Amino acid sequence: QSKNNSQVEFRFFTPDMNEEISKKLILESELRKGLEEEHFLLYYQPQVSVAEGDVKGYEALIRWQHPERGMVSPGDFIPLAEETGLIVPLGQWVLEEACRQMVSWLNQGKAVSRMSVNISAIQFQQPDFVQMVKDVLAETGLPAEFLELEMTESIVQDPEKSVPVMNEIREMGVKISLDDFGTGYSSLSYLKDYPLNTLKIDKSFVDNMEQGSKEKAIVDAIIHMAHRLEFNVIAEGIENESQLQLLSGKACEEYQGYYYSKPLPAESI
Ligand code: C2E
Ligand code: MG
Ligand code: MG
Ligand code: MG
Repeated sequence: QSKNNSQVEFRFFTPDMNEEISKKLILESELRKGLEEEHFLLYYQPQVSVAEGDVKGYEALIRWQHPERGMVSPGDFIPLAEETGLIVPLGQWVLEEACRQMVSWLNQGKAVSRMSVNISAIQFQQPDFVQMVKDVLAETGLPAEFLELEMTESIVQDPEKSVPVMNEIREMGVKISLDDFGTGYSSLSYLKDYPLNTLKIDKSFVDNMEQGSKEKAIVDAIIHMAHRLEFNVIAEGIENESQLQLLSGKACEEYQGYYYSKPLPAESI
């Protein structure tokens, strides 16, 4: 931007905006430092069979062990990591760490068949994304069939670009789930085009389920549609017995939620 312009713009640059921008800059440099100094760790939340109550898989969820601020939730730093592109190295670290952990559990004889890892749209759009996943599997020695990548509707918005990439991932043997289903802006018609294994119903639908028959009807419809498209269904955010009861009457395969367990560090799993 030219010198002339910056002077003009400065007049509109209020102290509030100034503060917000410097906060961002601080957070950004802290993120970089955290990545270098390995201040990140993964928690794991069980994915549980509705019918049998046994654990089928784990979702890896990132945490930032900040030296001064303590444990920081992903909601407070993933958006900035995406904005700055730091999500690319950070996301690769998450994938490596989750695969290493899964290999270690398998070596210990733990009966678990799936590690689910969240993938940001920015990561997915990298030209070497598929190769990166291949390399991580090769380096960690995790067989592809144990890995599932969780993608949101923002990733799958552009079928012409994303379907071929998703097909490559499936050809490797890696599974794909659609996260937070129902919260995006995509139309339903795209669903049939995507090579998904699993559809995860967003917590907001689970919360509404207790309100009445119309809300239940929507959850029923999502489950039926998913099954007709040959996807498994996981309900997110089950917090109590009555929600699980409501779900067990339906054909939903699995659930996640505080009712069974919050996300936990690996040692506590
Ligand atoms: P998500 O992938 O939909 O993960 C589920 C979130 O819901 C997790 O929050 C989990 O702790 C929370 N949750 C699970 N069960 C319950 C429940 O019963 N009640 C309530 N109130 N919450 C529940 P978390 O760990 O704070 O993660 C938030 C979001 O941050 C994730 O949503 C995901 O979008 C993103 N995220 C987390 N880890 C990563 C990562 O490694 N990479 C990327 N790109 N995004 C991540
Ligand atoms: Mg997820
Ligand atoms: Mg989700
Ligand atoms: Mg979510």
